[in-house]
Amino acid sequence: MDMLKLGRTDLVVSQVGFGAIPIIRLDRQEAVRVLRYACERGINFFDTANAYRDSEDKIGRAFAGMRDQIILATKTQRRDGDGVREHLDRSLKMLQTDYLDLYQLHQVAQEKDWAAVMAPGGALEVVTRAKAAGQIRYLGVTSHSLPMALKMVRSGLFDTIQFPFNFIEDGASHELLPAARQLDMGFIGMKPFAGGAISNADAAFKFLRQHSGLLPIPGFETNAQIDEVLSFYTLANRITDHDRADMDRCREELGKRFCRRCEYCQPCPQGVMITPAMGYPIVAARMSAAVAPEFSRGPMESVVRCNACGACIDRCPYELPIPEMLKTNYELFLLHSATAGHQAVEN
Ligand code: SF4
Ligand code: SF4
Repeated sequence: MDMLKLGRTDLVVSQVGFGAIPIIRLDRQEAVRVLRYACERGINFFDTANAYRDSEDKIGRAFAGMRDQIILATKTQRRDGDGVREHLDRSLKMLQTDYLDLYQLHQVAQEKDWAAVMAPGGALEVVTRAKAAGQIRYLGVTSHSLPMALKMVRSGLFDTIQFPFNFIEDGASHELLPAARQLDMGFIGMKPFAGGAISNADAAFKFLRQHSGLLPIPGFETNAQIDEVLSFYTLANRITDHDRADMDRCREELGKRFCRRCEYCQPCPQGVMITPAMGYPIVAARMSAAVAPEFSRGPMESVVRCNACGACIDRCPYELPIPEMLKTNYELFLLHSATAGHQAVEN
């Protein structure tokens, strides 16, 4: 497999990485089997997060004794120094390693997140110290918010940026990707299938392969999925009129009901966590209906505060009927919670 140098880091990664959310759904033995198969096929970049349940633990077990063959990236959503330290120690333990190749501040989307990261004693201070101590080789950030991602890229503080990138959510191609390239930052493309909204994998990768220096990290849960994605890279990348028509059709179909996670609708005066709540069906599809309620509990419980004022609709560039979609997602959350035996907050 062709390799890619990840921006200004000295990490040389396979041109496709492994996004480790879907292995949550697998039992431990099966997850280990799929992870090792990916490694045998030449994938060396594994991206996980403290928030992905037992994903780190499964990766740690799969690659025990093989640390020098893989590149490990994980993340924390904590913003306070103590919380980051706790997450970092846990990640090192779960991944069975004494260093991480890439440690990312996860989903930094709003100004309040950034302020907390930068505050004295905050996340940045702790990860910088851990880097100096050799526990972290490179620092990265992830976000779904284009303005915040641009701000973080331009801060010069990070080696990589991870952002959604696919033929539906291609906003990064205009400014963010060029800015990252200019500053020699690694660009990790999350959600190559738009979180499950794109079913045409061939078209999805034809689109991605047009963009040099991009590291896509599809989520895998079977060997067949790995084989399929890697097979695309054995062919020259030719986008036909038929592919373009397929992409246009998919964009059109999703256009009126698909949240691009751009965050322009935030903040909600009632404190509704709109973006993650809008994405609940996608989380449920990726993680399973049994796991999603626990993972999304905070955002979904915030939906009960929506009074349908409509302020968010005015700010949404896609004019999505946000309150109505939130209500539908909340009903799905309640259904999943009941099925999973969780206690959901009733309206
Ligand atoms: S409609 Fe609901 S979610 Fe949107 S801004 Fe108003 S209260 Fe918040
Ligand atoms: S609801 Fe609209 S504005 Fe809000 S994140 Fe989704 S696409 Fe963006």
